[in-house]
Amino acid sequence: MMLRTSLLGYPRIGEKREWKKALESHWAGDTSSEELHAEMKRIRLSHLQKQKDAGVEWIPVGDFTYYDHILDTATMFGFIPERFDYEGGQVPLDTYFAMARGNKEIHAAEMTKWYNTNYHYIVPEIENTTPSLTENYLLNAYKEAKEELDIEGKPVIIGPYSFLKLAKHYKHSDFPELLENLTKVYSQLFTELADEGVQWVQVDEPSLVTTIPEEDITLVSKTYETLNKEVPQLNLLLQTYFDAVSHYEKVSQLPVAGLGLDFVHDEGKNLHAIQSQGFPKDKVLGAGIIDGRNIWKAKMKDKLVLLKEIQKVVENDDQIWLQPSASLLHTPVTVKNEPDLDETLIQALSFADEKMIEISTLQKLAANEASADSIELQENEQIFADLKAKGWRQEEPDRTAFKEVSRTLPYEERRKEQLEKWQLPTLPTTTIGSFPQTRDVRRLRARFKKGELSNLEYQAAIKSHIETWIKHQEEIGLDVLVHGEFERNDMVEFFGERLDGFAFTKNAWVQSYGSRGVKPPIIYGDVRFKAPMTVEETLYAQSLTDKPVKGMLTGPVTILNWSFERDDLPKQQVAFQIAEAIKEEVSALEDAGIEMIQIDEPALREGLPLKREDWQTYLDWAVHAFRLSSSHVKNTTQIHTHMCYSEFQDIISAISALDADVISIETSRSQGDILETFEDNVYDKGIGLGVYDIHSPRVPSEDEMLHVIDRALSVLPADLFWVNPDCGLKTRNEEETIAALKEMVSAAQKARNKV
Ligand code: GLN
Ligand code: ZN
Repeated sequence: MMLRTSLLGYPRIGEKREWKKALESHWAGDTSSEELHAEMKRIRLSHLQKQKDAGVEWIPVGDFTYYDHILDTATMFGFIPERFDYEGGQVPLDTYFAMARGNKEIHAAEMTKWYNTNYHYIVPEIENTTPSLTENYLLNAYKEAKEELDIEGKPVIIGPYSFLKLAKHYKHSDFPELLENLTKVYSQLFTELADEGVQWVQVDEPSLVTTIPEEDITLVSKTYETLNKEVPQLNLLLQTYFDAVSHYEKVSQLPVAGLGLDFVHDEGKNLHAIQSQGFPKDKVLGAGIIDGRNIWKAKMKDKLVLLKEIQKVVENDDQIWLQPSASLLHTPVTVKNEPDLDETLIQALSFADEKMIEISTLQKLAANEASADSIELQENEQIFADLKAKGWRQEEPDRTAFKEVSRTLPYEERRKEQLEKWQLPTLPTTTIGSFPQTRDVRRLRARFKKGELSNLEYQAAIKSHIETWIKHQEEIGLDVLVHGEFERNDMVEFFGERLDGFAFTKNAWVQSYGSRGVKPPIIYGDVRFKAPMTVEETLYAQSLTDKPVKGMLTGPVTILNWSFERDDLPKQQVAFQIAEAIKEEVSALEDAGIEMIQIDEPALREGLPLKREDWQTYLDWAVHAFRLSSSHVKNTTQIHTHMCYSEFQDIISAISALDADVISIETSRSQGDILETFEDNVYDKGIGLGVYDIHSPRVPSEDEMLHVIDRALSVLPADLFWVNPDCGLKTRNEEETIAALKEMVSAAQKARNKV
């Protein structure tokens, strides 16, 4: 008997982003839909071939998509909002893309974050409660893999419970009925698969790792009982990931043939659950042992120990499937195309293609009852020894228990000193940091990167942009100015490149949404401050004006959440290292006389754990990290922070605990929601809610903004309110920006006369 191997999903994006290119050239009108289909098929088959070559036994099919797998499922079930004029039958490609991206007449469906990852899915809009099967793309995918590559594929689909949890626009009270109706369509779908000879289907139910009420478990049980009754001949592997499964005792008893658990991102809870409560003798255990989210090689020795523990519970090896902890969608494709990284680092990295090999290696090692001297194990040990020998990672004291740090004076008291020092008008005006990154600006940075410009030439050019925009800001009449961030490509990369401990890849793209990818930096060693990163530009800007210039930094939590982190340290410890580096930058700015400093934390909320009960622990260390970077300043130094729009209702006390003197929040696309948040909560520090939406080229009028300010002032005290636009001015052009800001400043002036 032997351990089996399986994958949960494979990245679509392509080694050289072929997938992205195929889509974008089709959208641009350069390729026909026939050409697109042909290229997509080629890509899809090559990905399947790779998995086959790597020796994966249960290869997922149907996880490939032209945009997003949740959109695929929604269209398959006929959940197509009325505004798209869909008339039944197979969903036309144009309709599919219109749902994803909108078109001239119809707005796109909303998209949102996929659990705790940086992937974004299209939110299904449920307008009627009777779904139907418009086509069966899983069947097509299964047949294709079989016919073309002789692969006995394992179709993958989001489960009915999670699908509905991810959807919106239905009444909460309709949930049970909807789930029941949807289950019927799943039965039909599964019957067609079983008739074709499909043996296993992977049914993803990641919502089962979130905090869910007891009554939902009853609904889930009913759902899977129905499926089992209707299609008893098909083996369903109920797959969970990203955290420990909730209600293990009930979930493990569901009438399915297998249960997939994440043994990496569960803080040991899944292992503990199977050890203490046992695992059903008749089920397959999908053992997510290799990290499917992060980019580090597995320590095989540790993995074998974990596996041994699992084998003590599940005695029959045939019933254990070795697999990554999640779909490999969240990792880049291959380490192979990273010639510029340090050799020692490359060795220690494992992206999707390398992870497939790790699964097979683990299978082999386990079969050979791996003795300590097996070559594979020794090689694996060597990787970590080499990494250690590099000195990138020093011994760190355990800092999981930390002592709170605070500003010298509480807000109320330091505020008096700040009012005295800064002498700003009521309703002061400012912006969030960046100004238009025109073609000129981007070309400038590109040429410098290529070595076509000397450091001096580059600096001079950046300074001339700063100068231009200081003049603009003075003319516009803003009260607090910024230097404009012209030297920055990206708010994390810029700092990562200037700190110790970060590496940057050439091709390690991960899908963020649709054809868009991100290339997160890799935190491989201790993060340390080297030299001031922003002082020169900020100080130069300040030298040109008598108005205060606000320094502009990215906060520790955001830098961490938008990077691949080390897996040998607790996450919070990495956050504290970054915080200390940012703290030094804050000091450097302060020492240079820049005494208004904004530390952006747009990704603070994103990092929230999936289970409510874990929120406080995260928020505690995230807040601590921010305070670590900002609490040491003088009373008169004003710390600002910024967050992009998200739901704040439930974390407002953590936001207040950041103890920033001023926070600005992106608002315009959700005015109503955010005002409600502040209606129900007293927020007692400086706050600016974006008074216009920068996403549109339209210049909003003074009156519109005055109206927005009035509304905000109905819930927030005027002496704490700041007037600023939303974030993202770097995406606009200069003319629009100047015109809109002028309107904003006169709106603020009018509003002042009223308070
Ligand atoms: N300071 C950044 C800017 O203005 C903030 C970016 C963001 O909100 N994500 O671009
Ligand atoms: Zn923002």
